[in-house]
Amino acid sequence: MKILIIGSGGREHALAWKAAQSPRVSQVFVAPGNAGTAREARVRNVDVAADDIPGLLRFALAERIDLTIVGPEGALVLGVTDEFSAAGLRCFGPSRAAAQLEGSKAYMKEFLRRHAIPTAAYATFTRQSFDASWVRAQRAPLVVKADGLAAGKGVVICTTTDEAVDTAQAMFAGRFGAAGNTIVVEEFLEGEEASFIALVDGSHVLPLATSQDHKRRDDGDLGPNTGGMGAYSPAPVVTPQVHERAMHEVMWPTVRALAAEGTPYVGFLYAGLMIAADGTLKVLEFNCRLGDPETQPILARMRSDITVLCDAALDGRLSSAVVDWDPRAAVGVVLAAGGYPDAVRKGDAIHGLDEAAKLPGKVFHAGTALDGDAVVTSGGRVLCAVGLGLTVRAAQRQAYDLVKAICWDGMQFRSDIGYRAIARG
Ligand code: AMP
Repeated sequence: MKILIIGSGGREHALAWKAAQSPRVSQVFVAPGNAGTAREARVRNVDVAADDIPGLLRFALAERIDLTIVGPEGALVLGVTDEFSAAGLRCFGPSRAAAQLEGSKAYMKEFLRRHAIPTAAYATFTRQSFDASWVRAQRAPLVVKADGLAAGKGVVICTTTDEAVDTAQAMFAGRFGAAGNTIVVEEFLEGEEASFIALVDGSHVLPLATSQDHKRRDDGDLGPNTGGMGAYSPAPVVTPQVHERAMHEVMWPTVRALAAEGTPYVGFLYAGLMIAADGTLKVLEFNCRLGDPETQPILARMRSDITVLCDAALDGRLSSAVVDWDPRAAVGVVLAAGGYPDAVRKGDAIHGLDEAAKLPGKVFHAGTALDGDAVVTSGGRVLCAVGLGLTVRAAQRQAYDLVKAICWDGMQFRSDIGYRAIARG
């Protein structure tokens, strides 16, 4: 069986690594991949960009790819699944219409309101309809969100209503390009976040192991927001009760409503949840794909064959599927380039990867490239070191042993990934 993974990040390295372990898989291609996927056994990079849908389609047809798994949201929102399906190819990911759940926050909020699925109170504005006096009458803090995809940067938490008005106006002025033509202003929710990710086959929901990521750059969840500085699985904040509520109040109603509206959802569905101290939960966001870096610790724990699960979902057979998990905890620590999340320098040689490869655990690549035989940095988030252990603390230790083996000029990382889980004992 031939597999194509679309994307080039740590999530895609983990997907490729996992798919390559399947006894039914002969070859995994990654478009465009990174230095990590280039060096993985039975995995090959293909020089086609993740959003070049015609190029991806040509490649998949020429290679007779049996199953394509889409990593990033961009390709999904552009309709990669629709194009592949129309050409008779099996592609795991939601249609362009269903991917609007992530592609447009205004659509997503309206969908949740229509179906009484819990989320923060909000209002949607365009430049023309913007009502600064309404915003000033709300209670701060407020969260201002660009409607469209903004590479995870289109969300601004404003401590005063004046700041919210200024932020809205900056978005209308083009701060996030066309993504900010429409904005959502919503109430700030208190609580602890968790990522709830499931496989969906149009009508059934098969939850993956729970996880939690660390979005802020610095220790103690301080500093600027990032794409994610680390993650771990399982997430103790998702108690069996919270899990039950997430399925009943969010996942099932969402999947049922999408099917009823004529946009059945097939793919990975990621709900970002805010869990309040009293156990009530609200949807912060939906992503129409796996999370990065959550995927790395989650797949490190997955014992089942990911390609079998994706096939079952594509065939609408998830109700009889089960996922087998390593009972150990996994912690993934992101190693980022200096300056991240702002502009970073590229091309720095990364040292210690061969030493790290001899240690237990796994280093997944994200922003890396090959320069001859040398692995160099080529993006903000460069690597994700994943450790496993009987406790989160043991998994954390294994992950940081990997981190200690690696260095490059300007490398930065958080030293406390997993602290919330450790504090919960
Ligand atoms: P989003 O892309 O909508 O998930 O927003 C990114 C991050 O901003 C989330 O992971 C939260 O940390 C934070 N955030 C978004 N919306 C809210 C909210 N209503 N209340 C508190 N924090 C939020």
